[in-house]
Amino acid sequence: MIPVRPSKIIGIGRNYAAHAKELGNEMPEVPIIFFKPPTALIGSGDTICLPSVSQRVEFEAEIGVVIGSRVREANLEEAERAIGGYVCVNDVTCRDLQKVDGQWGRAKGFDTFCPVGPSVASGLDWRSLEIIGRVNGTERQRARSGDMHFPIPDLIRFLSGIMTLEPGDLIATGTPAGTGPLADGDIVEVEIPGVGILSNPVRGVAR
Ligand code: ZN
Repeated sequence: MIPVRPSKIIGIGRNYAAHAKELGNEMPEVPIIFFKPPTALIGSGDTICLPSVSQRVEFEAEIGVVIGSRVREANLEEAERAIGGYVCVNDVTCRDLQKVDGQWGRAKGFDTFCPVGPSVASGLDWRSLEIIGRVNGTERQRARSGDMHFPIPDLIRFLSGIMTLEPGDLIATGTPAGTGPLADGDIVEVEIPGVGILSNPVRGVAR
């Protein structure tokens, strides 16, 4: 089951300094944003399909913010009030295509590249969320929302100055350090304590 039906899925690039560093990137002065198509959504338990055109597909465990009320040109207070809840997101990415393309639409836009779930949780404090990524039971990523370069209300304020955010819209707030490749037969998990565990099997050509 897919717990959100966003009109748009907005991704944030390089929002954790340690992840930018591991890819050899500088931190941006304003948030880097990109879109994933709603057709990329799958729910917990659904299969991530590795496209044969890529030699390196990576997981990215992320805190997903679901917009609760329509917001445009928000200040920080209005931005915080527009948060409807939180959900685990895996921003699956073809790292090789991301590098050669420059634009990230292809690398992040394949069908099944936006696992989201298991359900949307509300009533949590954006300051004290934790994000954990695991592959085959081994922890690969762990960070706190306090480690974000641009905190969640700042992201909503910034985005709402560009585009109207509608109820159900999904913001993938960036991934911490520790991303890595996925292979056929893997099980990848994204956990936010208090929200739940998003778990997806991986299918594709053996490498
Ligand atoms: Zn990401």
